[in-house]
Amino acid sequence: MKRFLYIIIMCALLCQLAGCATQSRQTVFAMDTVMDLQVWGADAETAVAQITELLHTNEDLWSATDPDSLLNTTDKTEALMLRALEMSERTGGAFDPQLGAVMECWGFYSKEYRVPTESELADALARKKWDLGAVVKGNTGTLCADSLELLRVDRAILNLGGNIQTYGEKPGAEPWSIGIQNPDGGDYVGVVSVTGTASVVTSGDYQRYFEKDGVRYHHIIDPKTGMPARSGLRSVTVISRDGFTADALSTALFVMGLEDAAAFWQNSNDFEAVFITEDGKVYATEGANLSGCEFEVIRREN
Ligand code: ADP
Ligand code: MG
Repeated sequence: MKRFLYIIIMCALLCQLAGCATQSRQTVFAMDTVMDLQVWGADAETAVAQITELLHTNEDLWSATDPDSLLNTTDKTEALMLRALEMSERTGGAFDPQLGAVMECWGFYSKEYRVPTESELADALARKKWDLGAVVKGNTGTLCADSLELLRVDRAILNLGGNIQTYGEKPGAEPWSIGIQNPDGGDYVGVVSVTGTASVVTSGDYQRYFEKDGVRYHHIIDPKTGMPARSGLRSVTVISRDGFTADALSTALFVMGLEDAAAFWQNSNDFEAVFITEDGKVYATEGANLSGCEFEVIRREN
């Protein structure tokens, strides 16, 4: 009997050393997108359940379309809304958390798409209706990482509909490898490596759009015109320790275009970025850790 117990204990110890802690994986539909949650650790199953709840709670709180959501029933005193206004200022208005009426008149809420007239767009811009669609997923990613820390799981990778949130170190301090989607579909364009807890968020013209008379109308709006931003970019990926920052800036840098976005990065120290242009070229900031493709490096000015 003693010998039997000894064998069980040895097996458990070896399993720990080999890093074969339990893993839990689940697909969730939230925030209008499919999400994939993968967590490793003794409490992985509890963690996946808690994260699922966190995603649904944040979806309800910040919904732009539910008239009863916190976003639609409060003034702008909520911390997330204040942070969004600050980000609008930091990006010179490229990030605008009040494009709700504009999104509505393009049919992005009802999914009955249409091209609005210039005066409809002017009215919609003036209405300043809140829409935090550009930051809720990223912000929730960091909230998820905080809750994984409290649960002391080993590590996790959450795909929140194109927003990747990593948590913790992989065994042997291996980096997490995150593929950057090809805007035309098919294989990944390249791979970004991150260590530990990070958010990797992509905004692209291929994620949500409709076509009319051969023209593609996508969901990233230039706040100056109310029209889908035509900045010469197909996608922007932002890598940051903070999910709100990564999500807000992926949208804002897309609106700015390559040149202004590069200058913005040179004056910042809280993110790295990868850009894919309309002519298929790839650009990456110095610290982006991109590999697997040819690209031009954007450097800090001396
Ligand atoms: P996704 O939601 O597909 O991950 P983004 O993070 O780029 O993509 O967010 C796009 C969403 O943000 C739009 O659906 C809209 O709700 C909102 N939005 C569009 N243009 C802007 C903008 N210039 N600034 C802030 N929010 C925007
Ligand atoms: Mg965004």
